[in-house]
Amino acid sequence: MTNSKKMSFKIAIASGKGGTGKTTVSVNLSNLLNRNRYNTLLADCDVEEPNSALFFSEKQEMEPKECFQKIPEIDSEKCTFCGKCAEYCEFNAISIIKNLKYQKVHSDLCHSCGACSVVCKHGAIKEIDHPIGSIQHYRIKDDLNVVEGRLKIGSAMQTMLINQVKEFIDNKAEILVFDAPPGTSCPMVETVADADFVVLVTEPTPFGLYDLKLAVDVVKQLGVPFGVFVNKAGLGTDKMYEYLKAEEIMLLGEVPFDRNYASKYAEGKLLDTKESSMDSYYEYLVDEIKRRLN
Ligand code: SF4
Ligand code: SF4
Repeated sequence: MTNSKKMSFKIAIASGKGGTGKTTVSVNLSNLLNRNRYNTLLADCDVEEPNSALFFSEKQEMEPKECFQKIPEIDSEKCTFCGKCAEYCEFNAISIIKNLKYQKVHSDLCHSCGACSVVCKHGAIKEIDHPIGSIQHYRIKDDLNVVEGRLKIGSAMQTMLINQVKEFIDNKAEILVFDAPPGTSCPMVETVADADFVVLVTEPTPFGLYDLKLAVDVVKQLGVPFGVFVNKAGLGTDKMYEYLKAEEIMLLGEVPFDRNYASKYAEGKLLDTKESSMDSYYEYLVDEIKRRLN
């Protein structure tokens, strides 16, 4: 993983719901871009369940980086229970009851903004590092790397960890491929917000269409260019295609539903970095990315 002088081109792979095959698209696309001689880094931002690295049978695992958030701790000896910190905390993460000389920081609500430390004029607050997860770097080849954010069990700091993953990989490859968390909540938005291009992965079923529409709304509001990649093509109805046509949304590719492939995936039998029988399904998408890189 080397620093590139040019700014990285960022592609986010997202989907309105889980189970659409978003990770297989991320892995196949990263492989194919790499075989097209692009220095590529795949960042798994599905931090609650990262599994991109599992697809690569040969990899070198680097030392993990522990990630922390700063949570305030109040010293009851110095605290005057004035309540300023609780007043300034936008996340209701501090409770102060002056009469009872009671103070509590609710670490699960704290967003580590630091406002309480700034506002306390009595030096009663110090910030303590709390672990939220780790970043694991796998080297597949010199010019193909995978980085996974791995959230600590019980932590709700998905967005903070995704931010730390983004800082860790910033400009470290010509192309950064982000495997976004499923759904359309804050962690997905955080992942796709500064992408140069978003690939929305879906399946042509009524549920797939419903969730795709939600994801399309999000990326339109963010103003990021996007297209749709259909997995499990052949299942369901034509309504998905009618929607794409009516909304003039670019169809970037389709992978037909294949029971053998689905069971291979379910059994954890993996793809490889060598030529893949799937390559042809990704050609249009790769060409579209090349057009955007030029
Ligand atoms: S602002 Fe400082 S002194 Fe006032 S309640 Fe908060 S910690 Fe205590
Ligand atoms: S760091 Fe920010 S979010 Fe956390 S308790 Fe202080 S003011 Fe609230």
